[in-house]
Amino acid sequence: MNTILIRDGLLVESDRSWKSDLLIEGEKIVRIAPRIGLEEVPADTEVVEADGLCVMPGLIDAHTHYHLVSRGTVTADSFVEGSKLAAFGGVTTVIDFADHDKTRTLADSAKARIEAMSKGMAIDFALHQGVYGMHGGIEAELQDLVKLGVTTIKIFTTYKNVGYLIEIDGLRELFSACKRCNIMVSAHCEDDTLIEETNANHTGGHTPADHAVLRPAEAEYRAIKYLGTLAGEVGMPLYVVHLSSARGLDAVRELRGAGIQVLVETTPHYLLLDASRLAGPEGPLYVMTPPLRTEQDNRILQDALVAKEFQVVATDHCSFTREQKLASDDCRTIFPGIPGTEEMLPLIHTFAVASSRLSLSQLVRLLSTTPAKAFGLYPRKGSLQVGSDADIVLFDPECMWTLDASSIHSAAGYTPYEGFKVAGKAIMTYLRGRLVMGDDVYLGKPGEGKFLVAGTPSAYL
Ligand SMILES: [Zn+2]
Repeated sequence: MNTILIRDGLLVESDRSWKSDLLIEGEKIVRIAPRIGLEEVPADTEVVEADGLCVMPGLIDAHTHYHLVSRGTVTADSFVEGSKLAAFGGVTTVIDFADHDKTRTLADSAKARIEAMSKGMAIDFALHQGVYGMHGGIEAELQDLVKLGVTTIKIFTTYKNVGYLIEIDGLRELFSACKRCNIMVSAHCEDDTLIEETNANHTGGHTPADHAVLRPAEAEYRAIKYLGTLAGEVGMPLYVVHLSSARGLDAVRELRGAGIQVLVETTPHYLLLDASRLAGPEGPLYVMTPPLRTEQDNRILQDALVAKEFQVVATDHCSFTREQKLASDDCRTIFPGIPGTEEMLPLIHTFAVASSRLSLSQLVRLLSTTPAKAFGLYPRKGSLQVGSDADIVLFDPECMWTLDASSIHSAAGYTPYEGFKVAGKAIMTYLRGRLVMGDDVYLGKPGEGKFLVAGTPSAYL
């Protein structure tokens, strides 16, 4: 069995950081102590000197779409490429999405995705299961989903055109069934009725910049308010994915003020990019849904992150190549989505930790521990504890570098953060005790990523 001794690093957990040694045996962390002598470990132990580096639990990108087949095309990053770019970003687990194939049961939809991912993934993964429509007998299907190890569903309040929209009738029944099964409901929140009205009244064109006009922040507010209120009436939590706007945050605050449990995820792009990016010939590269908002929204969301109003930062990584993105300049047909998993750690470290607004522990909480807890993967994932999987990132907080197409690994061939100067880089990434990325060399192997059977989401515990 391989043993690895990581010495003299700064261990970072969600509630503290301290200098310590850490010993890995096989796939697990087996010992943590201020000093572990060489005489205490097997002779063939690999010793990794981590002085000056942070030793963090592997990050979890709780919102990815690798190899997404949609709108007659497929995204740029397959499971193989997604795993690789994730390892470079210190991410050892992703939670991806299974489409709801309405010709099959939910569990069979999930199984098909698990099977496909198992072949290509080189890092671990869990799943959120899409539910795009209600039907009789859905509770039995939800129970089977839980048995399979999928304990979150994802619903959309928009995207009627691609068949994702869940009808309002029946939502209460769906929420109640999820509550009985201890399933977390996660929701893409944009009110479709308001978006349709806005489109009907729109007299302008359909440039990339119009995308932001046609999907107003008010739509996010209304959908969060509606779903959150329903969750409150049913007596269950709601997980809001990719919160994009200050107006959306208003809805979260109002719901919390009424005692409703709302978990909120935001993304680096809603914190750091604004709608001015949509102007000009490269505008299509920045089209995603919900759209980028204003600089003021960025600032308000950043303040909210610092004030601990968000529980999770994830990326909604949904990459298309430059060619795919630039094939249209009509916002109705541009493929929506951007890459982001690899950029997440350096971006959040730079803007939040290097600027002294958050601690390293808070970063670990947002990017690893809370997603692990929220989606039933803790303490196997999201923690440096004896017995946890040895998913470990050695992170150099001092490394200064620039994000650009040549420095990151997405098959998209571009990064929306082109030219961003960042502080901090993952130097080594271990997955269950095996080095998958070290010193800019990728060592991951397709098929070595395991499907993680999720337990009960923490909001139900
Ligand atoms: Zn998404």
